Amino acid sequence: MSFKKIQGQEKAIETLKNFIKSGRIPPALIFSGPAGVGKATCALEFAKTLNCTDENCNKEMDNCSLCQNCKHIDAKTHPDIAFADFEYQANLRGEEVEKQQNIKVDTIRHLTALSQQKATLAKWKVFIIDNGEKLQTEGANALLKFIEEPPANTLWILITSKREAMLSTIKSRCQIINFAPLSDEILLNILKDNMVEEDLAKEALTYAQGSSAMALKASEILEDFSTLNKGASFAMEAARSLPRTLAQSRPYASCIIDMLVFKTHKTWLSADTEKQKTDLKELLNKLVFYKKALTRNVAPSLVVESAIIRAQQNQIEF
Ligand SMILES: [Zn+2]
Repeated sequence: MSFKKIQGQEKAIETLKNFIKSGRIPPALIFSGPAGVGKATCALEFAKTLNCTDENCNKEMDNCSLCQNCKHIDAKTHPDIAFADFEYQANLRGEEVEKQQNIKVDTIRHLTALSQQKATLAKWKVFIIDNGEKLQTEGANALLKFIEEPPANTLWILITSKREAMLSTIKSRCQIINFAPLSDEILLNILKDNMVEEDLAKEALTYAQGSSAMALKASEILEDFSTLNKGASFAMEAARSLPRTLAQSRPYASCIIDMLVFKTHKTWLSADTEKQKTDLKELLNKLVFYKKALTRNVAPSLVVESAIIRAQQNQIEF
């Protein structure tokens, strides 16, 4: 992988390359944009580019993926680069990934302590924090000093798909890099690269809204659903088709509800009568409620079955 393989984010990559060209890399960046458009990949590629030891790649402001620094960053084993997502935090805390709902102050303290240590291999120490909007006041306060006056050659990158939910104390101290939604053409290529059959890919695209993560998940769900009986038993069968572990079934269920929301909204836009519009609005509220239930301790299969049955009452079907 190198910057060349990231599709549809030319503007963001150009900005990052210009930082290197000018020799002025801001101490803290926010990568902002929809989920599944390449923000995390880009953050890791930038960390690789800053540390790549291949001179030809350095000239092009790209990376080789082959030197020791690049390999360690790809494997997430680099001692000076941290990719702090919920999995990273779960490992630190000895907890399950699905229990991670926000970024803990302890995780931030762990990262800031690392940032104070001398680099082992890297020229640039890079600390990437995923789900930046999940950083709460205590964690943000612990981070502020370090992003304002970081040691030399230290970079913080916060990734978010909900910038509006980020604390303003953090936002005001970071330079924001915007990531665009992906075009249908790029999404179709990504689906093709992932062996998704063309008809299915086109249907999945209608739900994608510029996100490759959503396009891939929707195609997976549509493929699973295509083997189920339509009609009265569909909701139950769909609930049974969920992955077994909570870590997998929760995002899968969440995506099913997103797809129902999307279908409902589309039907609402073309509804003829006020009565239809009111009914569909009620359904939308209900789907938002189901989506929230997923973040609590409700079984995803139960949520999916209820949501599909409720949607069927308004003729919203897969
Ligand atoms: Zn390299």
